[in-house]
Amino acid sequence: MKVAKTIDEIRRLVADARVGGAGLVGLVPTMGALHEGHFSLIDAAAGECDFVVVSIFVNPTQFAPNEDFSSYPRPVENDLSGCESHGVDAVFAPSAGEMYPDGFAATISVSGLTESMEGRHRPGHFDGVCTVVAKLFNIVGPDVAYFGAKDYQQSAVIRKMVADLDMPLRIAVCLTIREADGLAMSSRNAYLDDAERTQAPALYESLCLAERLIREGERTAARVIESVQSLLGEKAPLGEVDYVAIVDPDSLAAVEEIEGDVVIALAVKFPSARLIDNMFVEMKNAK
Ligand code: AMP
Repeated sequence: MKVAKTIDEIRRLVADARVGGAGLVGLVPTMGALHEGHFSLIDAAAGECDFVVVSIFVNPTQFAPNEDFSSYPRPVENDLSGCESHGVDAVFAPSAGEMYPDGFAATISVSGLTESMEGRHRPGHFDGVCTVVAKLFNIVGPDVAYFGAKDYQQSAVIRKMVADLDMPLRIAVCLTIREADGLAMSSRNAYLDDAERTQAPALYESLCLAERLIREGERTAARVIESVQSLLGEKAPLGEVDYVAIVDPDSLAAVEEIEGDVVIALAVKFPSARLIDNMFVEMKNAK
């Protein structure tokens, strides 16, 4: 496994792989502190692609000034050995200066899909995400890039950016990997103290409750949201609910009457970490 710190180096590694016969190049963009969720994307890439690149870059432009950029975990050695053992061919781990040299002035912005949920609660977040992901696509030139359904809105925004800007690659979205108690794996789970960690599975529990209510015939989104909020209030009192939303899976527009597939998404702010989770509810088997 090669580790590239500069754009020139990773470009050369990918070009050499292509000359050597690699037909499909896969990219897994990450911010490091890798866990089984990331490794599931890497395994999917390794299963489909001839050459797998993992980028590890804590992207400053997607953090607001009051967020956790400086404290974000950076266990570099662990991440590199995890990548190696999952068959990664090259890691791209640039510095912030390499990605954003002095005078950097471009921004990619996707409107519409970014106006609710994470976009509303984290102004500027998706501009940072889109800009860095577009740069990574231009730098690595992958045929397939892998994202997690854990960040549902992010995957929808990236798909829209790729479609609207005719970027020549496929976006693969992989299932959310969870701890045994249902908590979605996240690099930020490490921030939780014992009491918060005990309450955190309530996020998934509340999504399961929402799914059950819908499957049992509840069609009014507001009533489902109320039940989710009350479960969270009871089982995760240390957390403050940022939002609970029921949205159309494509447009991400809020749904009032649940008639087709929906995504239920939520964000809960614990004192030590803000957690997000979501569930896709397919209606074809519903009552
Ligand atoms: P991050 O390092 O948090 O920026 O995440 C990098 C990629 O891993 C994103 O596409 C995430 O959606 C994905 N990811 C993070 N957590 C999980 C998880 N628990 N299951 C599946 N994918 C995940």
